[in-house]
Amino acid sequence: MEGAAKSSASGSCVIGRGWLWPENHLSCNIGVNPSVVVLESDLMNQQGDTQSVDADVLVIGGGPAGSTVAALLAKKGWRVMLFDKDQHPRFHIGESLLPQNVPLLDRLGVLEQVEACSMVKYGIEFVSPFHGKKVQYEFAKAWGRRFPHAFQVRRSSFDHILLQNASKSGTQVYESCQVKSVELHSGMFPEVITEDVDGRQHHWTAKYIVDATGRDTFLASKFGAKKPNQRNKSAAIFAHFSGAQRLPGKAEGHITIVWFAEGWFWFIPLADGITSVGAVCSPEFLKTRKTDLTSFFYSIIAMSPEISSRLQDATMVGKVSATGNYSYTSSMASGSNYLMVGDATGFIDPVFSTGVYLAMRGGFSAAETIDTCLRHPERSKAAMRRYEASIRHAMGAFTWFIYRIRQPAMRNLFMSPRNTLRMEEAVLFLLAGGVSGGWQVSLRLYLFRAIYYATKFSHFLRGVHKTSASPG
Ligand SMILES: Cc1cc2nc3c(=O)[nH]c(=O)nc-3n(C[C@H](O)[C@H](O)[C@H](O)COP(=O)(O)OP(=O)(O)OC[C@H]3O[C@@H](n4cnc5c(N)ncnc54)[C@H](O)[C@@H]3O)c2cc1C
Repeated sequence: MEGAAKSSASGSCVIGRGWLWPENHLSCNIGVNPSVVVLESDLMNQQGDTQSVDADVLVIGGGPAGSTVAALLAKKGWRVMLFDKDQHPRFHIGESLLPQNVPLLDRLGVLEQVEACSMVKYGIEFVSPFHGKKVQYEFAKAWGRRFPHAFQVRRSSFDHILLQNASKSGTQVYESCQVKSVELHSGMFPEVITEDVDGRQHHWTAKYIVDATGRDTFLASKFGAKKPNQRNKSAAIFAHFSGAQRLPGKAEGHITIVWFAEGWFWFIPLADGITSVGAVCSPEFLKTRKTDLTSFFYSIIAMSPEISSRLQDATMVGKVSATGNYSYTSSMASGSNYLMVGDATGFIDPVFSTGVYLAMRGGFSAAETIDTCLRHPERSKAAMRRYEASIRHAMGAFTWFIYRIRQPAMRNLFMSPRNTLRMEEAVLFLLAGGVSGGWQVSLRLYLFRAIYYATKFSHFLRGVHKTSASPG
């Protein structure tokens, strides 16, 4: 903490949406929302001593998770600060949303803004060279038929809308300001040190810290709680293209998942004519690269006749990016005065486009949890326990499917849709982001699992697992 001070080195610092915050306001006036509820505990630390704090809640990270939790807590009247190390709008991967994102965007009050810059996604197409066929699923046929569409978004615009919404809701937003350290002392409020682009450090205290740092996993890394996922080791290589050949009509906005010998491709059409294309493979396969990234990506594209044909008249826009093994989990997601949300708690795989939805859903749960903790400190422990359980449950709903999506038996089931006993509707409900569909959906998902194991067993008996590993 040496060198950190409550005031900046120069007269003022540029904050968030270009606000100028005079230096002498840094320690005492952080844009307190007039509707803030001042509680007795505002003036006390956990040992009952007097300690002033800069904010009730300090959020690290302005992605979908951080912006959601910040907006909701600020709307409830709490003093919220948010720091992001980047300046928005900024590029981020993760462009395909789920239908269950739509009600969350509506509740945040940003649905119209998001809709205006997005491609409407009505469904999913699976293309399997192993079966020589293509199959489309529409969300309108999911169990309950409540959320018939989602969006494909440019994350730079989408994340910016959410961050601006957090700011409008009363959050003090600081961009280009990285959190360098968090100190969690027993019985004291957490202390945070940030550093702005000019290298100036600032020192803050808050009652609660929200780690929404995404794959940087700030707190999980600090605590040594981040564990690589042994069941799903994947890496990705991706780029944007203009002029890609899309599906016709209403299906233009579908995400297409194309299997190939080394993994699978995503094909995500965005509203501005750009299409996001990426290949998900094993980290070992990506390590076989002997050429530059762009040539390597084109050589992977050449392995898929479907993707090659859709990109034959397309031009790459910008550069190719790659990400190493991205599948991990944090063994803990909360403590007495902090919690983690979104990718900061773990990430499995992009195959069902669950990342942004889980981040925002987690943001809603985190806001409710912290609100309870602030209002009723005696209920904090139970609230944190419920929070952990709810995020583990949400992630767990998808993991069984994600771990098996490259298995021939699972591919067979996805490539042969049949709504026997309404199982297809139940699976679609899950693919739309439905985490808790009640006993009727759960029962059908268990039936689906049973059929998967039966299919796998019959493949084993017939030796199909050997032959279906290569396309053709
Ligand atoms: C290859 C790939 C493809 C994907 N495709 C999809 C998809 O199609 N659909 C989908 O829903 N999800 C997808 N995802 C997942 C999705 O990108 C994430 O789940 C989602 O962005 C998580 O949101 P978040 O808010 O938790 O984290 P992020 O969106 O990563 O936001 C974290 C923020 O924290 C900031 N930050 C980090 N460290 C600090 C610090 N120390 N101080 C201050 N700020 C900090 C960062 O600048 C960033 O803005 C994909 C992921 C990968 C790897």
